[in-house]
Amino acid sequence: MKLAIIVLLLINAQSCTSSQVERENFRVIAHRGASAYLPENTLEATAMAHAFGPDFLECDLQLTKDNIPMVLHDRSLESTTNVSEVFPKRHRDDGRYYAIDFSWEEIQKLRVFERRRGEVLAFPGRFPEQSAPQLRVPSFAEWIELIEGMNESRGVQVGIYVEVKASPAYTNEGRDILAIVLEVLREYGYEDKTDKVFLQSFDPVDLIRAKEEFNTKIPLIQLIGMNEWPGAPADYVHMITEEGLQKVAEYAVGIGPFYRLLYDIDSKGRPQATLLSKTAKQLGLEIHPFTHRSDQLWEGFQSNDELLKFVVKTLGVHGVFTDHSDHVIQFFK
Ligand code: CA
Repeated sequence: MKLAIIVLLLINAQSCTSSQVERENFRVIAHRGASAYLPENTLEATAMAHAFGPDFLECDLQLTKDNIPMVLHDRSLESTTNVSEVFPKRHRDDGRYYAIDFSWEEIQKLRVFERRRGEVLAFPGRFPEQSAPQLRVPSFAEWIELIEGMNESRGVQVGIYVEVKASPAYTNEGRDILAIVLEVLREYGYEDKTDKVFLQSFDPVDLIRAKEEFNTKIPLIQLIGMNEWPGAPADYVHMITEEGLQKVAEYAVGIGPFYRLLYDIDSKGRPQATLLSKTAKQLGLEIHPFTHRSDQLWEGFQSNDELLKFVVKTLGVHGVFTDHSDHVIQFFK
């Protein structure tokens, strides 16, 4: 009897340890903060995600008219703010309200809403649009200072994982968003704490410039989407070949692929890994797929547990971008 209990305890202790090891080797990346619970990329969503205990807080960066880098996903403001009510005449001919046409002072007058696609909410069941309080678009500096403040008050070291957006469009406006973002990262000391920061972009030009022109020590992640996505800045079909990944490995420490590139679904409806994760790992690249969402599971999976087991054990990737960092952390417990 006693022996049976000891054996059970040992088995228990062992499984506990292995999941702790798996957790330690896995980067939980809070995508746009706790975006499942609060409007994305706000300070409120960032604070909530911080409390969940992820390894990194992720954000997207755009520029104001007066060159202030701010935490905002889209180049234009209408899908996530009330810009059309506050500044009804300030859209361009295509009907969109571009962030670069607004000063930082003007941006602060906007309320951030839960993301819409046209007239409908992108993620029904998340934070209700009609009750959105005065949530603002934060500047990049405010976002960093919130995280660093919470790191101090909570006695932890959550890193930052920042994305430079739409740099060719900013170049056309005569701006260099990459240079501005790298300067802020340098000012806040991230060139000297390279285990607490990643810089990501869909555009290889940004990452190659960051490395070769700006000599940054910040680790770089090449995001990989689909060629058919509007404005794709690279040939991703080629990028995921062995030859393409070899080139990526010359400037980046890892890839952030769209999750569907990592598996196919077989004739019985079961997910089967593609060659991508194996090839990338052979080249020493980390793999951080996007985006895990408990309320919109990846195709081919019926539950979070099934999906995360595939991510962690079958694909063996090194982290995941997630709107639900609390659920991913819970998976390892
Ligand atoms: Ca992003």
